[in-house]
Amino acid sequence: MSEKTVYPFGGSASHDDTRQKDKEVTGGKGANLAEMASIGLPVPPGFTITTEECVRYLQEGADFSDGLRSDVAKALTHIESAVGKSFGDSADPLLVSVRSGARVSMPGMMDTVLNLGLNDATVEGLATTSGDERFAWDSYRRFIQMYSDVVLGLDHGLFEEALEIAKEDNGFYADTELSADDWKTLVGEFKSIVEQEWGKPFPQDVNEQLWGAIRAVFDSWDSDRAKVYRRLNDIPADWGTAVNVQAMVFGNMGETSATGVAFTRDPATGERAYYGEYLINAQGEDVVAGIRTPQYLTKVARENAGAKPLSMEEAMPDAYGELARVFDLLENHYRDMQDIEFTVERGKLWMLQTRSGKRTAKAALKMAVEMVGEGLITKEEAVARVDPMALDQLLHPTLDPDAERSVLTTGLPASPGAASGKIVLDADTAEVFASRGDKVILVRVETSPEDIHGMHAAQGILTARGGMTSHAAVVARGMGRPCVSGASGVSIDRAGRTLRIGSQELKEGDEITLDGANGQVMLGIVPTVDPELAGDFGTLMEWADALRRMRVRTNAETPDDCRMARQFGAEGIGLCRTEHMFFDARRIRAVRQMILAEDEKTRLSALDQLLPEQRGDFAAIFEVMAGLPCTIRLLDPPLHEFLPHNDEDFEDLADATGLGVDHLKRRADELHEFNPMLGHRGCRLGITFPEIYEMQARAIFEAACAVQKSSGEAPLPEIMIPLVATRKELAILRALVDRVAKTVFEEQGTEVAYLVGTMIELPRAALMAGEIAEEGEFFSFGTNDLTQTTLGVSRDDSAKFLAPYVDKGIFARDPFVSLDVEGVGQLVDMAAESGRVTRPDIKLGICGEHGGDPASIAFCEEVNLDYVSASPYRVPIARLAAAQAALAAD
Ligand code: PEP
Ligand code: MG
Repeated sequence: MSEKTVYPFGGSASHDDTRQKDKEVTGGKGANLAEMASIGLPVPPGFTITTEECVRYLQEGADFSDGLRSDVAKALTHIESAVGKSFGDSADPLLVSVRSGARVSMPGMMDTVLNLGLNDATVEGLATTSGDERFAWDSYRRFIQMYSDVVLGLDHGLFEEALEIAKEDNGFYADTELSADDWKTLVGEFKSIVEQEWGKPFPQDVNEQLWGAIRAVFDSWDSDRAKVYRRLNDIPADWGTAVNVQAMVFGNMGETSATGVAFTRDPATGERAYYGEYLINAQGEDVVAGIRTPQYLTKVARENAGAKPLSMEEAMPDAYGELARVFDLLENHYRDMQDIEFTVERGKLWMLQTRSGKRTAKAALKMAVEMVGEGLITKEEAVARVDPMALDQLLHPTLDPDAERSVLTTGLPASPGAASGKIVLDADTAEVFASRGDKVILVRVETSPEDIHGMHAAQGILTARGGMTSHAAVVARGMGRPCVSGASGVSIDRAGRTLRIGSQELKEGDEITLDGANGQVMLGIVPTVDPELAGDFGTLMEWADALRRMRVRTNAETPDDCRMARQFGAEGIGLCRTEHMFFDARRIRAVRQMILAEDEKTRLSALDQLLPEQRGDFAAIFEVMAGLPCTIRLLDPPLHEFLPHNDEDFEDLADATGLGVDHLKRRADELHEFNPMLGHRGCRLGITFPEIYEMQARAIFEAACAVQKSSGEAPLPEIMIPLVATRKELAILRALVDRVAKTVFEEQGTEVAYLVGTMIELPRAALMAGEIAEEGEFFSFGTNDLTQTTLGVSRDDSAKFLAPYVDKGIFARDPFVSLDVEGVGQLVDMAAESGRVTRPDIKLGICGEHGGDPASIAFCEEVNLDYVSASPYRVPIARLAAAQAALAAD
């Protein structure tokens, strides 16, 4: 039997089929509506079309199956009998909402069409049954407006303009001043706009309306905005979205009706307090769209904000009491903070949505730790629940509390953190500025899903309108961008590219600072202080450390980075790229001399100058890493990267070496390579210019002996040979390193323990790993190069074409960001396995960028690596991800 395409919920529907509560099938919204209905909460009856139907529709060329058509018709009768109204009935019409609902909440897709089922006939019926003609015509014009925008794709500005003109003509300020007749006239105008712009009259057939909306939801899965969002959030293209069709309830039926959004705990701070906003006599979209400023949910929140309009707790105590009961019930049921949408229709509470609420990293930690304290969840659940990538938000500096602040205005503290940068007034400009390395603050009246790429490119977001649950606030929190919303002191002149903040006139490009924790907007750049790593963060990390098996090291090559990484919990260095040490202004001349030398004598004299510098570098690192293992990679990049770039460089070098500029240029030309990434680099340098590796090995051992003597804490140098393809390469270079070690130990009269090993970053090395392991005591998977060489995709050029690859689902994620487990992963698995067969105690780690990516870390756990190595700021992310991987493996 084929699986169901449609699942009814609410009313007398049964919710026993486990597929109905599976987000993969019915989407997050659909699954939770069914769940709420099954535990007896007041959910307006409706039905969910599965994500599978969306995928089928998109794959099979945008057509509905006959099965779907008849299942939807059947499910409609379920709603009709539950509410006792008929769809399209001109006397007492059933109206529905149509909403998308993917597995995870996804701004960028079609959101909502409300009041569907209204037409020239049913609007009269609604007027009669509601006893409110004005309400009926207002609902009809809202429907035309929304449907035209999201389903027919017409410019919503046209409708807003018509409304503004109608208000102006009548001398009205607010929508509430328009009468039934005014709305009726406007409906007429809206219909003419549709006919003119769309070429056909606004659909009067309610079934046509319904299928149009369903089609729009399905199509919106592949909209550009949705694709951008999917790419930024690693959502696979083949998930599809579900569609939820649900009986309307009305928050705009007068003063005893309301609509709102709420969180069971504060999503910004994690505080255990109900948190939310509501509007009396309004429809859901009014709250999120930021058109009217919403009121507080609780009395305490209103008082804290010094606001006048009554909170829901005060204005509607009965409905609020019921809502509070539902909050507790839902939190206990889901054992997590919930994000809820509700409507009160003439005093009766209806639940429209619940889901685990998006939260800032700070709030995620606080809630996870507190819920363990409350006995709601276990430590393992707490560790499993916090998104490792979200920790990034906490690891960055916050504004120095002692620094001077020139506060221009204050808005709502919508997403915490400090952000400074140049003002930009639209998303595209934000991207342009950011691509040339500028830090920017995106300033908008309000944001919409079209702005997502600009929000991503920005350090922070400032909006003039919108509440704590506006688009800007929700998306910024999800992205971890600081955001100040609803800053009414901001007025923007987009045409002139200028703005006023408070009393200050500013222009695009001027610098401001945001404090997302208190809503302040400041002039200029305000200094920052380092993050607080104790408290909830420390507690959760302690739990994570106790649960993980893999060690976490860092990729670092300066003492400062090493110090930072240790503060973040690094347990060693997994990759010290020594080439970065060569770029120092003082050294580059000697490096160039070394490279361009035509004989060994000149090369050795240049290396003699570099030796004490390198020794100093390593000694400083070993001191910071006291006693911990430090993997130091010998020189890797193609030599030409160090060559002089311009005439000035050449002249400078000619002065230093006594060689002519022409001579040097000819030598530089000789070093030119067509494919440097596959050229004279890695261990090939060590094979052809052994003096370079000898100098580096000497610097490492001399530094290690010195630190051992001075501090008594010997580091464990792990000397790593890059880009090895054959056993012989490693054998030759290992012999070189051992020889230098022996000489230095004799000279110094002391010895330190050390290892010699290799990177596995070429397919041949992975294939021959069993043999290579005979020469090396450790493998570190260089998955950047291994990805490049396995896929035959240049890591430096891939950005241009990988995005469409991800959009088309060829890769679920950029393989340079998240390991291609199926392909490259096989090589890693195989090499690890055969390495272990040869040398059972071989140390195995990863030092490519993937070492800081949670999904790749999960793979490293599966293939039993000993450690992962990540850049300093990613170390905590890796610690948490390693713990989650260990939990998943149990
Ligand atoms: C790698 O190739 O994965 C690696 C860590 O080395 P690099 O990025 O320096 O080439
Ligand atoms: Mg490499």
